[in-house]
Amino acid sequence: MKIYRFLLDGRPVYGVRREDRLHLIRGSVFEDFVVEEEGVSLGAVRLLPPCEPTKIVAVGVNYRDHARERSKEPPREPLLFLKPPSALIGPGDVILHPSLSDRVDFEGELALVVRRRARRIAPEEDAGAYILGCTCFNDVTARDLQDRDVQFTRAKSFDTFAAAGPCIAAGLSPDNLEIKTFLNGKLRQSSNTRNMIFSVPELLRAVTRVMTLLPGDMVTTGTPAGVGAMQPGDRVDVQIEGIGILSNTVAAENDFPAPRSEPGG
Ligand code: MG
Repeated sequence: MKIYRFLLDGRPVYGVRREDRLHLIRGSVFEDFVVEEEGVSLGAVRLLPPCEPTKIVAVGVNYRDHARERSKEPPREPLLFLKPPSALIGPGDVILHPSLSDRVDFEGELALVVRRRARRIAPEEDAGAYILGCTCFNDVTARDLQDRDVQFTRAKSFDTFAAAGPCIAAGLSPDNLEIKTFLNGKLRQSSNTRNMIFSVPELLRAVTRVMTLLPGDMVTTGTPAGVGAMQPGDRVDVQIEGIGILSNTVAAENDFPAPRSEPGG
């Protein structure tokens, strides 16, 4: 089941995709809900980021080939950092290349959307029960600032640096999915989520040992090898098996007054 968040009569709503139509959800997307019979055409609506997180928890260096290309040792435990919800944009939105950075990279990643409050998920518990579904994510990174700063906050947190969508794929097992990133149509990253150093359940246990996850929060899972710079005018597509394609374009910060949606919208 693919769940989309979109604008209907100026109001953000959730709907389930059936062929090329979106059928409105009645009730909470995080609990039991009913899918309405009436649908609207997918092509006629403006898609939004797939959820409204209170936080976006990201994981660094979770693929061995990416560790190698960054000349880093694979970590012994998950390396966690945060991206602010104000950085979130949706499919079709514009990634702004800030003038503070000379090198802004794409990082195609699988992201998880939390379904219910999760704190200290026990080893014997099914971590998947806490997850609503999976989405595509671009963990946009100002690489020069990341290398210059002691920690990641500045490099990872510019407005528009967290692109997600196009939908939440529910009922999809996250452990064996092809993941690809294209820059201007050229394949730049190609891997499979089975190549993660820490699996999705391991990541969820590690995160919830530290902080409580709330419905709508996002946990990203790291990027494979092949990261590279984006320039204004570029288009970047993150494609994950069973989810779809997240497409965004890049513009120089000064050439574009604001992202198409308000950050976090
Ligand atoms: Mg990343």
